[in-house]
Amino acid sequence: MISKILIANRGEIALRVLRACKELGIATVAVHSTADADAMHVRLADESVCIGPPPSRDSYLNIHQIVAACEITGADAVHPGYGFLSENAKFADILDAHGITFIGPTADHIRIMGDKITAKETAKALGIPVVPGSAGEVKPENALAIAREIGFPVLIKATAGGGGRGMKVARSEDDLSEAVSTARSEALAAFGNDAVYMEKYLGKPRHIEIQVIGDGEGNAIHLGERDCSLQRRHQKVWEEANSPALNVEQRMKIGEVCAAAMRKLKYRGAGTIEFLYENGEFYFIEMNTRLQVEHPITEAITGIDLVHEQIRVASGAGLSVTQDEVVFSGHAIECRINAEDPRTFVPSPGTITHFHAPGGLGVRVDSGAYQGYRIPPYYDSLIGKLIVHGRTRVECMMRLRRVLDEFVIDGIKTTLPLFQDLINNQDIANGDYDIHWLEHYLAQPS
Ligand code: ADP
Repeated sequence: MISKILIANRGEIALRVLRACKELGIATVAVHSTADADAMHVRLADESVCIGPPPSRDSYLNIHQIVAACEITGADAVHPGYGFLSENAKFADILDAHGITFIGPTADHIRIMGDKITAKETAKALGIPVVPGSAGEVKPENALAIAREIGFPVLIKATAGGGGRGMKVARSEDDLSEAVSTARSEALAAFGNDAVYMEKYLGKPRHIEIQVIGDGEGNAIHLGERDCSLQRRHQKVWEEANSPALNVEQRMKIGEVCAAAMRKLKYRGAGTIEFLYENGEFYFIEMNTRLQVEHPITEAITGIDLVHEQIRVASGAGLSVTQDEVVFSGHAIECRINAEDPRTFVPSPGTITHFHAPGGLGVRVDSGAYQGYRIPPYYDSLIGKLIVHGRTRVECMMRLRRVLDEFVIDGIKTTLPLFQDLINNQDIANGDYDIHWLEHYLAQPS
């Protein structure tokens, strides 16, 4: 059994993991950079260790310092949260070599899913529907033949991709060679690897992802989908569960395809299988082998604490529920609150002079922010997540409107006003949007 968990992260997710540990009676160790000494998760943890200066590469990405912090404090497991080292197979291997449990999948599964070509091949072999595309890497000399076979428009994507970088659309033969060379040089600059592959470019898809969790012994379940189509520059802004576009049969069908694949893979831990969804068809794009930012909406509609489950399976206790016991109830929406200008998205670090979180039935605020908190300029601008649940989508939207009016964060700019606009939009009310909707909306004069 796990008795002490080191949380190798910061911000709202560090606090989220800490809360789960406390509920399970597990001791906690916070690690932090010098910039985060006064962070809420550091204050609430049983012990804390400073692991370096503000830049992430010297602190939250510094494997040696984190392993040393485990040794000093006697932590027997590490929860990596999301981002930072959460999908770093080498980190999982090193912890393993030190006899420390990595709360996540095996290093091999992280590796397979971390390379987009092997991820797609694996998904296909496991019976998951994938986007039509090249069988493996595309070189400039064979790009045209492959593109003709797939049919234009096509999308060139970096094998090592992430965050939408190294992605270029070619609408016709004329654009192709430039798209391939730009994608390759972007990929080289961003990931140190210029390998690219090619996919059919889908015009108006939705982004729908399935939450899965497995025990590593061949048992795995799905917890339904999240619709994360409202994105800006491939960054999710608003997520909802269930998707306004799916009915129960479609949900259970794609969910079962994913759960069956995870059983075959003997997948351990939480994971998300991401799809584009167009004209009633699902197309796999990638799998994330970690907890996602938007996991609370799944928790809201299932009542299942995903971090509890992650800790259970990591300690060998298995899943607490079977697929038959999973009950989907109501509708949930998450708004990502960033310390950014709500229109230009320019980061707005600084001191929060006034902070009042909303409350009431069906309201959850996951945030490490508080009055007087100084947001450091070194990290991601996500400062909190607002999650609202209702028995129906309509009730959830009514509640969200009320809750947004109650939320006060002064002293910095935040994305709260954007959500106040979205909640009054007719397309949003109808659930009628695709992955381009938000960019088009933001391009209109306000
Ligand atoms: P990354 O890991 O860089 O985020 P993904 O493969 O997850 O890359 O794709 C990110 C986003 O790019 C998707 O959510 C979608 O908006 C868009 N996208 C990816 N593949 C396609 C495709 N074949 N057709 C159209 N849009 C795509």
